[in-house]
Amino acid sequence: MSLVVMERALRVACISGTLNVRIFLADGKSMWPKDAPQMIAGIGIRPKLLPEKEDMKRFLLILLFLLSAVPSGLTQEHAAAALPIRSSGADPGTVSGENTWADMMEGNQRFVSGRTKPRELVQLRHTLAQGQHPRVIVLTCSDSRVPPELVFDQNLGDLFVIRAAGNVADAVELGSIEYAVEHLGSTLLVVLGHEKCGAVTAACSGEKMPTANLQAIVDKIDPAVAQAKTYAKGDGLLDAAILENVHQSARDVLANSEVLRHAHEQGKLVVIEAVYKLHAGEVVRLPSSVNSR
Ligand SMILES: [Zn+2]
Repeated sequence: MSLVVMERALRVACISGTLNVRIFLADGKSMWPKDAPQMIAGIGIRPKLLPEKEDMKRFLLILLFLLSAVPSGLTQEHAAAALPIRSSGADPGTVSGENTWADMMEGNQRFVSGRTKPRELVQLRHTLAQGQHPRVIVLTCSDSRVPPELVFDQNLGDLFVIRAAGNVADAVELGSIEYAVEHLGSTLLVVLGHEKCGAVTAACSGEKMPTANLQAIVDKIDPAVAQAKTYAKGDGLLDAAILENVHQSARDVLANSEVLRHAHEQGKLVVIEAVYKLHAGEVVRLPSSVNSR
């Protein structure tokens, strides 16, 4: 459907009373305004319908008019469902890492309770094609049960995610974090481990890995396991090693990257260490091993 057809389709007729606006479609069907946001969202999310420059102005005018025609009886929830959730990429200079973390934890609470925000992904995808300004970097495990965007109920463009088994911070991971801090303006790094991590379990086993690449991962985790063994054993060793491994990765980030260490010292990068609980879906912040402020 072209914009012209759409414009013709979206004729608004006044009838009477409070619900005095009705929307008529090209196929002769009509709908009440309470359905308008969903309909508009449905139109907006089809790439084929994205208009050219001049047409875009007319498209926006129609959109604004239709939204203003929605009666006050429409709940805010419905209105929110029709509009972009929020603009990604808040000014990193004005939002502290701690405030950003509070926002992340609100998202995690939504995830835990199963009341995550609705998403208008296609519309946001088009907006973000112009550029990205993720506020948060997440270094976490590749485990399929720990997707940061879902766990923190964040949207496209919100998180710069680096995933490697065991959330290890080697050269490639450090380079990725440096890029986000230096070029994308990210101000918060979350190092996120998780319960029952297979990579940490492998390191705890003490067994030699079958390939050099797997061994490279375990080698990065071994110091954390050694630290955990100083105070934990038996069933408690894995949980302790998982926590120590988060701390180890956070320390590696600052110890092995001058760029990130400098940003951290300047207060431009906050590092938060946390663990994800598989059953509860909850993210628990750990005492910091790197932040002195
Ligand atoms: Zn893992």
